[in-house]
Amino acid sequence: MMEGSSSLSPTTQRLAGKVAVITGGASGIGAATARLFVQHGAKVVIADIQDALGLSLCDSIRSFASDSVNFVHCDVTSDSDVGAAVDAAVAKHGRLDIMFSNAGIPGSPAISILDLNRADLENVFNVNVFGAFNCAKHAARVMIPARKGAIIFTSSVVSVTAGMGPHPYTASKHAVVGLAKNLCVELGEFGIRVNCVSPYGVLTPMLAKHIGLYDKEVGERLISESGNLKGAVLEEEDVAAAAMWLASEESKYVSGLNLVVDGGYGTTNPGFV
Ligand code: NAD
Repeated sequence: MMEGSSSLSPTTQRLAGKVAVITGGASGIGAATARLFVQHGAKVVIADIQDALGLSLCDSIRSFASDSVNFVHCDVTSDSDVGAAVDAAVAKHGRLDIMFSNAGIPGSPAISILDLNRADLENVFNVNVFGAFNCAKHAARVMIPARKGAIIFTSSVVSVTAGMGPHPYTASKHAVVGLAKNLCVELGEFGIRVNCVSPYGVLTPMLAKHIGLYDKEVGERLISESGNLKGAVLEEEDVAAAAMWLASEESKYVSGLNLVVDGGYGTTNPGFV
């Protein structure tokens, strides 16, 4: 997929001239989105805590689009790290059009509320919720004067169904949707759109680790069998495509949306706890 990208003509480059920061961009959904954004003409700053992985992804992307991507070490729980990542994008490219706040962790596997682990709850909220706040704040700092921008959060299908994920993770992903909707009101007057993309299961390193399953074939079969679209497997690229639409001018009148990429699972399985 990457190799063919250089043949894309400018008219098929849906993010030409745009500058993006992608948190959690070294792996999984974030990495696929970084590749896709670059393929479509964007300049991307990958912000992640996994330096070796992020740098190697940059090398691989540069092989088909030189000077299109760079890596910054960024822990989204740190206000100053996120501020520095945004400043790096502006220093290098003169602007920031897209903030993809995607870094996230699942926390510990599901446990009863009676055994609530406060440390795990704080850990999950620090990354998934406070990280999203940091991304929104620093993106808004740059986008408000520009009176334009797109902020996208990765939430999850657990934001529209129940009983699928651990309590802290599920609550954190609901919080992200609430933040996006509120920000859509505050930032709309500055031309800034704020949306979420909410995937069903994708067998990224995060999910593989969480379900203790590293066999890609078995994992993907389990995921395809538990979804609505029998036989279909959700891949990182499918989520990246949804994020790209939310980042592009094609969605210029879309804000406050939770775009669920789940094959209809959340609609038909609202769930019970
Ligand atoms: P992944 O583990 O492949 O990627 C997550 C990335 O986030 C990693 O590169 C990791 O280093 C980075 N990260 C973690 N903590 C960080 C921090 N404090 N600061 C900066 N970066 C940090 O997992 P993924 O599945 O691609 O997850 C991406 C997003 O998608 C997450 O928000 C996750 O909750 C969400 N999501 C995933 C699935 C799924 O099934 N994989 C489903 C729904 C939602």
